[in-house]
Amino acid sequence: MDRQVDLVIIGAGPAGMAAALYASRAGLKTLMIDSSAPGGKLLKTYMVENYPGVPAVPGPDLAIAMYQQSVSFGAEYMYGEVEKITKEKQVQLKDGTLINAKAVLIGTGAKERQLNIPGEQDAIGHGESFCAVCDGAFFRNKEVVVIGGGDSALEEAQFLTRFASKVTIVIRRNEFRASDKAQKEVYENDKIHVIKRHVPKEILLTDGKVSGIVLENVEDHMEITVPCQGVFPFIGHIPETSFAKDLGILDENGYIVTNDKMATAIPGIYAAGDCKAKELRQIVTAAADGVVASTEAFHFITGI
Ligand SMILES: Cc1cc2nc3c(=O)[nH]c(=O)nc-3n(C[C@H](O)[C@H](O)[C@H](O)COP(=O)(O)OP(=O)(O)OC[C@H]3O[C@@H](n4cnc5c(N)ncnc54)[C@H](O)[C@@H]3O)c2cc1C
Repeated sequence: MDRQVDLVIIGAGPAGMAAALYASRAGLKTLMIDSSAPGGKLLKTYMVENYPGVPAVPGPDLAIAMYQQSVSFGAEYMYGEVEKITKEKQVQLKDGTLINAKAVLIGTGAKERQLNIPGEQDAIGHGESFCAVCDGAFFRNKEVVVIGGGDSALEEAQFLTRFASKVTIVIRRNEFRASDKAQKEVYENDKIHVIKRHVPKEILLTDGKVSGIVLENVEDHMEITVPCQGVFPFIGHIPETSFAKDLGILDENGYIVTNDKMATAIPGIYAAGDCKAKELRQIVTAAADGVVASTEAFHFITGI
């Protein structure tokens, strides 16, 4: 079934939901499409403490509040995976649905980077997970390993101590990249153990389930094996932009290039949030991008 709308927003994360709020409130016929439940990464975040005006809130609760507000002025949410966008602003879904829009806003975020080591493909879903909030409860009284030293890794490690008997954080460098607050909490938590100057080499499985991880010392290349039932990599992201690869709007890392009005090189196609090339990928910056992009789309569509 073909559809015609003013603005189609791809992705219902913070960027897409903020954009839908502004566009529909300005009177645009707005359709927001997501291949998952609305909320984006908020659904995977245990606690958000840095969204202005909201002291501390579980990510899924903030997702529900944002979603309800985003559709309260008439924007529509639709489930579907976008497979292709054309320069003529036609959006094609995997199930064959075509949506013709006057403007397109891409807010598809980024997916978790995998370790790319032996054993990983068998381990995913059998002990390896990229979401502590989603899967942490499966690791009650078990030992888990977290890979990565940024804020997300330390927050997730902290969350996992609610269930796991021991959480080992592995970092390549000698220090964390995370905030002082996150580091302090980690060092004060008796359940967390830190292994520095090591990188993952192989995930070991026994009877089809994760049973350990081999780590290599980056200096002397000696290997150690850490027994564990869970592995949680938090080592960065890859932008979700493959459907836009033929448009010529991606940088060498796959992020969408825009100007400061969130406009790509193609008139009427905008990008907002984690999928675009920028410095700081946070909820508040994604929402702000979405608002700027939808306001520009409004000007483009109405000529005002
Ligand atoms: C574990 C974790 C904790 C975090 N904690 C914080 C925090 O405390 N504070 C903070 O400010 N930030 C935090 N962040 C970062 C923050 O969540 C992101 O910067 C923000 O969610 C980006 O919003 P977005 O809308 O750009 O993308 P996302 O939230 O990633 O949403 C993108 C949406 O697009 C959809 N999508 C992707 N591809 C397609 C497709 N082809 N078709 C249809 N839909 C598609 C996805 O399903 C998803 O719903 C955290 C991130 C993680 C992973």
